Amino acid sequence: MNTPTTERAETGLLIIGASQAGVQLAISLRGTGFDEHITLLGEEDHRPYQRPALSKEFLQDKVDKENLIFRSQEYWDEHDIELVKGARIERIERNTAADGTQDGSGVAVAADGTRYPFRRLALAVGARARRLEIEGAELDGVVYLRSADDALELKARLGDVQDAVVVGGGFIGLEAACSLHGMGKNVTVMEYGPRLVGRAVGEDTSEYFLQAHRGRGIDIRLGARMTRFVEGTGERAGTVAGVELEDGTVVDAQLVLVGIGVVPNTELAEQMGLAVDNGIVVDRHAVASDGTTVAVGDVANMPNPSPGHPRANGSGWRA
Ligand SMILES: Cc1cc2nc3c(=O)[nH]c(=O)nc-3n(C[C@H](O)[C@H](O)[C@H](O)COP(=O)(O)OP(=O)(O)OC[C@H]3O[C@@H](n4cnc5c(N)ncnc54)[C@H](O)[C@@H]3O)c2cc1C
Repeated sequence: MNTPTTERAETGLLIIGASQAGVQLAISLRGTGFDEHITLLGEEDHRPYQRPALSKEFLQDKVDKENLIFRSQEYWDEHDIELVKGARIERIERNTAADGTQDGSGVAVAADGTRYPFRRLALAVGARARRLEIEGAELDGVVYLRSADDALELKARLGDVQDAVVVGGGFIGLEAACSLHGMGKNVTVMEYGPRLVGRAVGEDTSEYFLQAHRGRGIDIRLGARMTRFVEGTGERAGTVAGVELEDGTVVDAQLVLVGIGVVPNTELAEQMGLAVDNGIVVDRHAVASDGTTVAVGDVANMPNPSPGHPRANGSGWRA
């Protein structure tokens, strides 16, 4: 028997992705007088929350999930912003007039078949953690940190962990390393490159980070060449037990946290035929190549207003 398809009422603006960028877009539009109905839709089952604390205060149990929530339900109700949780959009159908023109309206179709008609569309679908392809990457205990669910899973595992390896010496890797170290774990950071946070800061700052982390007792390995994640034996079969390096040494780890960057979620944009190049290519008004769809946040590849600087992904990093 086929499940009947639900068709929602048309919304003025459908924002796909209910996180930092989507939330801010909805709030800013109301602040500037946009008075059409807004639907803010996301696939996660949580109310929109702030990610930055996931590797810091939330991981350290200094704040709980409630502290991360952006706005109360009353706020969304008062501002005529409909929040839809747990809905993953799988494709966009664009309305096309008889003469072939498109005005930016269409229907977003969710994984459960629910249809969300819209007059205008904004993509705030962000990015996902880049996966590491290495032998043993599928072992239990190899984890990533992008979402609240990832953080909850990570926290639930920590009781059994004495030694942790963090793969990636970028911001998230170092923040998580400090948090884990502060909880009494032996932490080793494996950084493939010659210095820490190499893509974002200069050499002096990298050196400062290196000394600061080593000074705390975190083992930082630069130029680390890992060959595989080692599986445990006996009762720990199927679970990670260590990380093997090119020289054959194995660093013990009951937990491996991989933080090697993100990949923008461009699948919907590609399906829509929008220009994509390490993110959805937008102009300085955040408008994509079709002239109507807006893309904001980590998924957007926007022009950098400073002359001579390359394009950059939307949200940037505010420490
Ligand atoms: C652990 C951690 C710590 C961080 N710390 C800092 C910090 O200190 N300072 C800082 O500036 N930045 C920090 N960041 C980065 C910051 O959180 C991101 O830049 C920001 O979240 C980007 O917001 P966004 O809304 O563009 O994308 P995202 O936060 O990635 O949100 C996109 C949302 O869209 C949803 N989505 C995707 N596809 C679909 C679909 N097809 N249908 C429905 N929903 C969909 C996703 O599930 C997600 O909820 C941190 C990130 C992490 C993970």
